[in-house]
Amino acid sequence: MLLNMFRSSSIGTLVSVALLLSTSTATPAWKRQNSGTPPPAQAQDPSFEEEYDFVIAGGGTAGLVLANRLTESGKFSVLCLEAGPNPEVVHAYQTPGGNQFLKGSLIDWGFLTQPQEHLGNRTLQYLRGRGLGGSSAINGLYYGRGSASVYDNWAALGNPGWGWDDVYPLFKNSTKIKAANSTPELAAFSQQYKTFDADAYGGGPLELSFQGYVTDSTNSFVLATSEAANIPIVNDLNTGNGVGIKLGTGTMNNRLRRSSSYDSFYQQARNRTNLRVLHSAPVTGIAFSQSQNGTAPRAIGVSYIEQATGFVRQARAWKEVIVSLGAFQSPQLLMTSGIGPRAELERVGITPILVNENIGQHLDDHSVFSIMARVKPSASTTTMSSSPDNLQAAQEAFFTNLTGPYTAPSGITNGFQSLSNEELQAIGAQAVIDAGYTNRAHVEYLFETVWYPWIPTPYYAALPNESYISVTASSMVQLSRGNITLRANSMSDQPLINSNYYAHETDAIIGVHSFKYLREILRHPALAQYTIGPNAGEVSPGPAVGDNDDAAILEYIKANTIPNWHASGTNRMMPLEDGGVVDPTLKVYGVDGLRVVDCSILPVLPDVNILGPVYMVAEKGAEMIRAEWGDEGY
Ligand SMILES: Cc1cc2nc3c(=O)[nH]c(=O)nc-3n(C[C@H](O)[C@H](O)[C@H](O)COP(=O)(O)OP(=O)(O)OC[C@H]3O[C@@H](n4cnc5c(N)ncnc54)[C@H](O)[C@@H]3O)c2cc1C
Repeated sequence: MLLNMFRSSSIGTLVSVALLLSTSTATPAWKRQNSGTPPPAQAQDPSFEEEYDFVIAGGGTAGLVLANRLTESGKFSVLCLEAGPNPEVVHAYQTPGGNQFLKGSLIDWGFLTQPQEHLGNRTLQYLRGRGLGGSSAINGLYYGRGSASVYDNWAALGNPGWGWDDVYPLFKNSTKIKAANSTPELAAFSQQYKTFDADAYGGGPLELSFQGYVTDSTNSFVLATSEAANIPIVNDLNTGNGVGIKLGTGTMNNRLRRSSSYDSFYQQARNRTNLRVLHSAPVTGIAFSQSQNGTAPRAIGVSYIEQATGFVRQARAWKEVIVSLGAFQSPQLLMTSGIGPRAELERVGITPILVNENIGQHLDDHSVFSIMARVKPSASTTTMSSSPDNLQAAQEAFFTNLTGPYTAPSGITNGFQSLSNEELQAIGAQAVIDAGYTNRAHVEYLFETVWYPWIPTPYYAALPNESYISVTASSMVQLSRGNITLRANSMSDQPLINSNYYAHETDAIIGVHSFKYLREILRHPALAQYTIGPNAGEVSPGPAVGDNDDAAILEYIKANTIPNWHASGTNRMMPLEDGGVVDPTLKVYGVDGLRVVDCSILPVLPDVNILGPVYMVAEKGAEMIRAEWGDEGY
């Protein structure tokens, strides 16, 4: 059934509002009560003002892929609701060099974790996209896919249809790539290591390209890392071979503007009459029909706040409600709507509609730490941001001629190292093998042409007139798991985020081991040639931490660890008996009409940054939904 009951307001007329409005001012008649006896079914039925085939909660990375694909054939009507604004209110999101201005902006939720028990009780900033495009509009622009074995493992865990051969075509179909020399401006930059295999990409909306400006030190990092960490230099990392190093593919077009899901999937679909995308419209709850005669409850719509008018709205979904709020707020919405761990719901006064103890659990993430070195100015892009004048000059060069350091993100050159079983056993990391993390990358090494991550370490504070580079390690086989719980029973309150890094002792072993590789990389002659001062310019931690002093190395790591921003797994796709929340078709167990499609469903993190995998998950989700509802038009 195609229902086009759209009201007159359009996305272009809506006003961005920075803060979530409190839901307490206007509680919808049908909203689940916190306590007491539920009213009879008739009294609970919501009065819907709008009706669609599908309602998507969240207009982020995955949400806008779904909005596009589900309206492609014209067969369905779709409403997509996004809490944050149009990302263009923070124009810097579009440019690689502008990435430095996004933290704490209007399009970042600005989350904080709970004090981290294994990181000296530090509270970590956790960036998260808030606006159309979601985290794809504020992320570091690196695009990867990881190793084929990751997806074959997903299938082996009880998720048929998710093996590499199944998902590779979806990776391809969502992307298209342009050669690094496809315009005269781009051809003027260094072309070394900007290679790719054309067969790995298709004609999809998401545009991939390579950074413009490349420091010589970046190319030297590729060589140094290859030799110091035994990582092959490869032609492409997106063909199922996730081990290797080269200059990374970035989510940019060949004018070096960001290609987020807003710039790609949304722009392609925005004028379709069967699609309504509303920003500044936070979803406050999922409506369920009453379970009758033992049937499962059915998701029939959502409530949201239309911030432009201040009114609470209720939208009916005749076919399905699709939750796409990311790793933190998707489990939060399920829980505040009555689906989650019993004790957790009851703790904040929510009467469960359905108990599933796994919602919000198994938070799987990657974290990073860096060592920093003083370098000659030409090896770094520190100078670009060291004064307003320098920054203005870099911006002018970008916008007028597409030249200069503003054409590059601060770091999308990443190497992926696979450790042999012998090496893992020798360092005491048998648990990594036991967890099935073999035949894939174990550690990612990243290069930043700046002081990363921005803040001083307990060992050194960056000086204003010096230039720096950072070499960074991120375990791709982290065994610690955290969780998401509720601060309160409403979506207006941020969830409690416990990333729980370094809870598992093997993570410390991998961390210390990769720290030693970082020093080898920095000291490799190819990179050391740019450094200033002793110890290959290393200023943090510097000589205070000895090469073989594992305790001091671990102390440094714990004092400097921050997220790699890959939170996932809080609604993981697994058999119910193995702790799953959604089945292989991404349907939430125990209810009808409800799917989750975003990074929260990943059963196990891939051995790579997860933007590419999230696009793939959304493509696959859309494909399954369309097939199930008889849409053969694709
Ligand atoms: C700072 C940062 C850097 C990163 N760098 C990289 C990188 O370089 N490469 C890489 O591969 N990965 C990177 N990632 C990870 C990657 O971008 C994310 O994993 C991915 O974009 C998540 O997609 P998603 O659809 O699951 O969630 P999101 O894209 O975060 O979308 C969720 C959406 O839901 C919205 N929302 C939340 N609550 C509500 C509500 N109540 N009502 C309506 N809408 C709501 C949010 O505002 C958001 O738009 C990075 C992430 C961050 C935050």
